[in-house]
Amino acid sequence: MLTIEGIATSSGIADGRLFILENDNKAPKMVTVADTHAELDRLFTAIETAKEQLAELYQKAVVSVGEENAAIFEIHSMMLEDEDYLENIRNIIRVESICAEYAVYITGIQFGEIFSSLEDEYMRGRAADILDLSGRVVDILCGRNKTQLRDVTEKVVIAAEDLMPSQTIQLDKSKISAFVTKNGTASSHASILARSLGLPAVSALGDGFHQLRHGQFAIVDGVDGLVICEPDRILSAQYEWKRCQLEEEKIRLQTIKGTKAVTQDGLHLEICANIGHPDEASPALEEDADGVGLFRSEFLYLESSDFPSEEVQMAAYKKVLEQMRGRRVVVRTLDLGADKQAPYFHIPHEDNPALGYRAIRIELDRTEIFVTQLRALLRASVYGKLAIMFPMIVSMEEVHSIKRMIAGVKEDLRAEGISFAEEVELGIMVETPAAVMLADRLAKEVDFFSIGTNDLTQFTLAVDRMNSKISYLYDYGSPAVLRMIDFTVKQAHKNGIWVGICGESAADIELIPYYVGMGVDELSVSPSAILKVKEKVQSLNAEECRIRAEKELA
Ligand code: PEP
Ligand code: MG
Repeated sequence: MLTIEGIATSSGIADGRLFILENDNKAPKMVTVADTHAELDRLFTAIETAKEQLAELYQKAVVSVGEENAAIFEIHSMMLEDEDYLENIRNIIRVESICAEYAVYITGIQFGEIFSSLEDEYMRGRAADILDLSGRVVDILCGRNKTQLRDVTEKVVIAAEDLMPSQTIQLDKSKISAFVTKNGTASSHASILARSLGLPAVSALGDGFHQLRHGQFAIVDGVDGLVICEPDRILSAQYEWKRCQLEEEKIRLQTIKGTKAVTQDGLHLEICANIGHPDEASPALEEDADGVGLFRSEFLYLESSDFPSEEVQMAAYKKVLEQMRGRRVVVRTLDLGADKQAPYFHIPHEDNPALGYRAIRIELDRTEIFVTQLRALLRASVYGKLAIMFPMIVSMEEVHSIKRMIAGVKEDLRAEGISFAEEVELGIMVETPAAVMLADRLAKEVDFFSIGTNDLTQFTLAVDRMNSKISYLYDYGSPAVLRMIDFTVKQAHKNGIWVGICGESAADIELIPYYVGMGVDELSVSPSAILKVKEKVQSLNAEECRIRAEKELA
């Protein structure tokens, strides 16, 4: 038995065999070849190997998960015989003299895109299969023959030195019970994703990470930040008990479903959900969300291999709006940069990406990307109650430029006879000290503020939110950060606009009394935290919280 200590970054307890994820599944290089016949032979052999692998996996899966679930491996095998698909690959090799691995890779992307754009939902779902089976052939061609997650038939614990959000979002969640990482912090986006998926995670295992072995059985304790490898019977039993307690807590919280987050003296707060994918809207509603306080639209870009089109985006926003049935949905425009990178943006390496070319700076520079997103958002606005929010604002000029662009997009839509809701609210993330200091002026320009405490803490305290070495300094509850929030709330209310918090601290039980005392109107948290936050708000007296906050922040 081996216990490794880290930090708990997503609550809960889970177990499974460790799956060590190595970062070697990069896109293959486009290499020109002299002998295209030899390349076609390599392709043929790789496809035969892939079919053998799939047949073997099918047999294994029939035993472990039943015939119906195993069928996917048969489908993949059949897809590998599709003449259009094979001819496309062969043509690239023959005509362009390109290596087999790149030809398969690019064909997978092209065919995936064709499938994604189809009307039929079943066919759209095949896009992931085409990418998956192309990935299998590419891995064989590149000699990456070790077990891949796609071959796993039981839930595993993903172990990685670092997990990038773009990677996390592309993993098949149905095969994952928990995450453990060598690096990472509670406010890195991979941890945020784990929380929104409701999967336990432990990060910052440091050198202890190297003691983990692929295939070893482990318990992940996302409450106390521990990873226990090959636990003995006594510890396993203790964890069984701990897990039951967490389950009981969940059941208890169900009893407040349907009630409002009103303090004992009558102050009402909205408790909304942070989501990163349209599929998370419905579970958020089941957890009693009053709305979506933050839809991180950049995840649509991260899970895609090219810029998502206006149609694809519009379908995603429409889905969320419809599912939320009239409740407000705040979509944040593309907040790319720092740990959220999509290769097809071709953003050059930067020494300080958190302070670099990111978020609204990209949008106002590469306006064609921004216009596509604004058009998709406005077109979707007729399907529900949409609010649009802009990330990383530091100046009045940015807000003026955004408003000018929106007016232009609206004019175009009108000219094209495309309808949209005129009264869409516009808001900004207050997540930089500059936005706080300009809050009185910015509040006159927008309909709402949402305080991003993840970045605001990073920038106020000058502590990189991704750096586990100094994570002890990263403190949402620091008086410096709390004063920033208090000032922002006061400026918002003086100017008659609402203000929420959508950073991870909104779910911090210790800090909620301060937020209630300051008069924050909305807390937006991971769906799994909604009921707990609601219960906390209901237990408080707002006036007492106000007096305490005023005294402590004076
Ligand atoms: C924040 O900064 O608090 C926030 C909500 O945005 P993100 O975590 O995506 O940077
Ligand atoms: Mg942020």
